[in-house]
Amino acid sequence: MITSNEYRQRLSKMRRNIYMDGKLVDRNHPRLQGAINILSKTYDIIHDPEFQQYEDILTATSHLTGQKINRFNNVHRSMTDLMSKQKMTRLICHQVGGCVARCMGIDSINAYSVVCFLTDQKYGTEYYKRFEKWLKKFQETDDVACCAQTDVKGNRKWRPYQQKDPDLYLRIIERKSDGIIVRGAKVHNSFAPAAEWINVLPTRALTADDKDWAVAFTVPADAEGVKQIVSAFTYDEREGSPGPWGGADSMTVFDDVFIPWEHVFLCGENDMGGYMALTFALFHRHSYTGCKPAMTDVLTGATALMAEINGIEKEQHVREKISELVCTSELCYGTGIAAAINGYRSPSGTWVPDIMYCNVSRRHAGINIYHEYDILADVAGGMPATLPRYGDWIHEETKPFIEKYMARNPDVDVHDVLKAFAWVQDMSCSEGAGVMQYAGVHGGGSPRMEQIAIMGAYNLENIKNIARRLAGIKTGKRYTFDRLGNILGSQ
Ligand SMILES: Cc1cc2nc3c(=O)[nH]c(=O)nc-3n(C[C@H](O)[C@H](O)[C@H](O)COP(=O)(O)OP(=O)(O)OC[C@H]3O[C@@H](n4cnc5c(N)ncnc54)[C@H](O)[C@@H]3O)c2cc1C
Repeated sequence: MITSNEYRQRLSKMRRNIYMDGKLVDRNHPRLQGAINILSKTYDIIHDPEFQQYEDILTATSHLTGQKINRFNNVHRSMTDLMSKQKMTRLICHQVGGCVARCMGIDSINAYSVVCFLTDQKYGTEYYKRFEKWLKKFQETDDVACCAQTDVKGNRKWRPYQQKDPDLYLRIIERKSDGIIVRGAKVHNSFAPAAEWINVLPTRALTADDKDWAVAFTVPADAEGVKQIVSAFTYDEREGSPGPWGGADSMTVFDDVFIPWEHVFLCGENDMGGYMALTFALFHRHSYTGCKPAMTDVLTGATALMAEINGIEKEQHVREKISELVCTSELCYGTGIAAAINGYRSPSGTWVPDIMYCNVSRRHAGINIYHEYDILADVAGGMPATLPRYGDWIHEETKPFIEKYMARNPDVDVHDVLKAFAWVQDMSCSEGAGVMQYAGVHGGGSPRMEQIAIMGAYNLENIKNIARRLAGIKTGKRYTFDRLGNILGSQ
C-alpha cells in the first residue's frame, strides 16, 4: 500500500486534461487540493499509529492475491467485508468532515465483479477474466478510481436511441480488432480530477434498440480524448484545523476515446447494461449507509457545539432536535448493517447487500437532508451566514470590537467562538455546503429511483393478504408466498 506522497506524485505526472473556469490546469491547482487532501486521508490513515486499532476495517485481504490491500480497492467476499466497508466509510468521513469520495471506486469494482461474471455465463463472453486481470494490478498499485455512471441524458423521457443527438448517452461508435471507440459525456463525476482511473458504466435500463449504449469499461483519467470540465472548491485553511478539505466534480467528455479490449467489461449486452446500472446503484446506496450517518454525526456535533456556544445546550427544544438528528443517523446506519446481514453471495462470490434495506436507508437520509441543515441553522442562529471575515478578526481597528461583541458563553474563548462559526459557515452556508446538500438528495440516484427500487422489492401482495385476513375479506386475487416472500401460487 502506497503513501499519500506517492499518490500526489502520480497525480502530478498525469496528462493535463482538466479545464477549470476557462483554463487548462494541472492537478496541483489550489482549487483541487481540498479533494486531493480527502483522498490522501484514505492513504495516510492506514499508516497512522492512532488508527492501528482499526487496521482490520481499513484494510482487507485481496481474494486474488492474498495480499493486504486498502479496503477501498476490495471486492466484498462476505457479510463482514460489507460491514467493515460501512464502518470504514463512517470512520474516515468523521476525519474529513464530509464525503470520503473513494466509495465510487469500490462500488464500481463490486458492480463489475457481479455483472461481468453473470454476463459471461449468459453470453459466453470473457469480461470477468479481463476485469480480474485489471483489478489485480489496480489493487497492487493502490490507485484511486472514480465512477462515471450518470449520462447527460438529454430529454429525460426518451431512451438513448430516441434522443435527437445519439451522443447524449455515452455510446460505442466503432468496434475494432483491438478495442472500441466511445463518444459521449458523463456528468457529476465526483473527484474525477483526483483519480487515476475512471470506471464507466451505464446509467439506466436499456432496450434491444440501445445496444450501442450498453457499454462498461475502465480508462485512465488522463487518456487521450478524455477531457474533464471541473467544478471544484477548497475551504480556507485555518490555524489548528485539519485539511483543508473540499470537493471536485467533473463533466467528463469522451471525445472519441479508444478503449482496448482488456479494459472493456460490457459491450452491447443491453439487458446486462441495465443490470450493471442497478447493481452499481445498490452498492453505492450501501456506501451511503456509512457516509450519510457520518455526515449527520458531523451536523449533530456542530448543532451541539453551537448550542453550547450560545449557552442553550440544556434547553428542551435543543435536546429534542438533537435526538431527531441521532434518529436519522442511527436508522440509516442500522439499515446498512441489516442490508449486509440480509445480503447474498452472487455467483462470482461477491457479497451483495439487500436491496430493500439499502434503498430504505438511502431514501430516509435523502428526504431528511435539508431538515438536518434546518436544525443546525435554527440552533446556530444567523451568524454562520454573516460572520465577519478573517481579515477583520486580526485588523488592529476591528479586532477589539470583534473580540468584545462576538463573546457568548463565558466558558468558551471568543477565538474559539469565531473558529466554530467559521467552520459551521463552511459546512452549512458555503459553495461546498450547497454541493453536499444536492449530493445528499441526488447522489446514488434521485429519490424517485429509490422509491421505484423499494416498490419493486416490496411484497405488497403479501401485505394485502395479511390485511384481507385481518379484515375478514375474501374477494380479490390472493397470492400465496413462502416465508421468504417468493410467490408460490394464486387463487
Ligand atoms: C454532488 C453530486 C455528486 C455526484 N457524484 C456522481 C458520481 O461520482 N458519478 C456519477 O455517475 N454520478 C454522480 N452523481 C449523479 C447522481 O447520481 C444524479 O444526480 C442522479 O442520478 C440524478 O440524475 P440527474 O442529476 O441527471 O437528475 P435528473 O435525472 O434529471 O432528475 C431530475 C428529476 O427528473 C426526474 N426524472 C428523471 N428522469 C425521469 C423520467 N424518465 N421520468 C420521470 N421523471 C424523471 C427525477 O426523478 C428527478 O425528480 C452525483 C450527483 C451530485 C449532485
